[in-house]
Amino acid sequence: MKHYIIPVFIPHLGCLHECIFCNQRKITGRQTPVTAKQVSTIIAERLNDINETRWVEVAFYGGSFTALPQNIQNELLAPASRALRQGYIHAIRLSTRPDCINRDIITNLIQQGVTIVELGVQSLDNQVLSKAGRGHDCQAVIDAVRQVKEAGLQCGLQLMPGLPGEDWESLIKTVRQVIHLHPDFVRIYPTIVIADTALAKLYQQEDYRPLSLKQAVARAAYMKLLFERQGITVIRTGLQASEELNNEANIIAGPYHAAFGEIVDSYLFYIMMAGFLEQNLVPAERELLIRHHPQDCSKVRGQRNSNINRLKQSYNLVRIILSPDSSVKKGCLVLENQGQTVFYNKNMINYI
Ligand code: SF4
Repeated sequence: MKHYIIPVFIPHLGCLHECIFCNQRKITGRQTPVTAKQVSTIIAERLNDINETRWVEVAFYGGSFTALPQNIQNELLAPASRALRQGYIHAIRLSTRPDCINRDIITNLIQQGVTIVELGVQSLDNQVLSKAGRGHDCQAVIDAVRQVKEAGLQCGLQLMPGLPGEDWESLIKTVRQVIHLHPDFVRIYPTIVIADTALAKLYQQEDYRPLSLKQAVARAAYMKLLFERQGITVIRTGLQASEELNNEANIIAGPYHAAFGEIVDSYLFYIMMAGFLEQNLVPAERELLIRHHPQDCSKVRGQRNSNINRLKQSYNLVRIILSPDSSVKKGCLVLENQGQTVFYNKNMINYI
């Protein structure tokens, strides 16, 4: 069943710290805190828009939900809990800080019908967390994940490659620790410089240089590859495009792209195809046949045919034939060059 998320934005509600990269008002476009009455209206209006059978979730994003006093949490959750009991929605999820999780908080969330908790983790390198002004360390993340999972709730982690002080070594450390924690899912949001943040000031003083789009794609692809290999679902790569994010006044710098997730997937396909050619290209034969699942066509080609053009140039190919084939699994390829036929999936990518 297709998912349908009813987002309820609570910009900075409950936030105990001003994380240097964050300006939820710019990201969500919502300037004022939401009230319980507004939550009720948002849910009713969105439910009205759904005209097919869907798995519907109400999701509270953009603040530190569980840092709010319990009576406020319950007031905001009440319309969603009611809709859940009445069978109009199927789940409630919320995002919060790792240091705002404990047994009492979790017990209350379960009583209100919450089943999915997303933790804003960003990095598992204490130096990076400190530079980002997060106000918690790695241990807080480890404790929070353990408690959320032990309570039987689904646990998701939000990660931000490209924060100040992060390099490849730091990123690899984060990835390894996340794999060890084994959350149910992750979201990967490369750091962008949003207006009216401390990060924007650092950038303007030339004390911070964001990742280029190419660097961010490479880091996100590495993360996605390793998480998926360990059975950790990556439910999003790159911020969801929105009017606010497409407004140039809100994004000062950084690797924002409306199709970031698609570019990451294309990059992984490129590595598979280049890997095959490195090992199997017969010099006299300058033709490559690529069989792929029909739904992967644009990702195999890359944006504006970038993968195909780059392969032709790098390996001096005359012709590349793309052959959509529903017998090939999504995310996989069958590559043929002069009698060599090789099946490729992401597990065969040798990334670093
Ligand atoms: S990242 Fe999370 S905790 Fe930090 S300011 Fe933004 S919403 Fe608040």
